[in-house]
Amino acid sequence: MNKTVQSLQRRLIALGFQLPRFGADGDPGAETLAAVGKALDELVTLRGGEDPTPAPPASTASIVPAEWMPAAKLERVICHWTAGAHKASEFDRSHYHILIEGDGTLIRGIPSIKLNEAPAKKGYAAHTLDCNSGSIGVSLCCMGGSNEAPFDPGKYPMTREQWDALTGVVADLCRRYGIKITDKTVLSHAEVQNNLGIQQRGKWDFTRLAFDLSIKGAKACGDKLRAEASAKL
Ligand SMILES: [Zn+2]
Repeated sequence: MNKTVQSLQRRLIALGFQLPRFGADGDPGAETLAAVGKALDELVTLRGGEDPTPAPPASTASIVPAEWMPAAKLERVICHWTAGAHKASEFDRSHYHILIEGDGTLIRGIPSIKLNEAPAKKGYAAHTLDCNSGSIGVSLCCMGGSNEAPFDPGKYPMTREQWDALTGVVADLCRRYGIKITDKTVLSHAEVQNNLGIQQRGKWDFTRLAFDLSIKGAKACGDKLRAEASAKL
């Protein structure tokens, strides 16, 4: 019997485990192994039975399933609302890569992100006029029947759960595709005309956030989006 085994046996006895055959012969065998197993069980019980591997901090855990983000070269993320209800319709799913329902649930759009790699391929997600190549489209399911001025969010106002999910989705996409967060690479539809110089037709997603009326205007909403997504990178 080697010294390591003997010292292990002494420590087990000191901890109160029964090793009646200790020192009796040269076989460390079953009795020592059983005591070690029991000791490990007790340690696990002491720890509440949990896996001792620490979970990553919530802020860095990915929320977009890996298979939704195929290898591709994308340059930017453009964020929208559907101007529909809090649930994703088939029509919504055909225009965006990722949708976020009223309770924060993520729904995969029909077109693959890969189809929007520049130049956009047949079946790509058509979410932003003249700016779909290289652009991932994410949309919050909300704001059907809303009005910009005077502001009326309608029956399906944007929720904080949606917004919080959005900043997590944007962080995941930027990490996956190596997109740096700037006002030309992570922006709302309402910022496209000013920030990228591509004319749009009066789009106001997002110039108001129904859950926080203190934020006003495309830049203020976009800056909040970028700051919160950056914090989750
Ligand atoms: Zn839009």
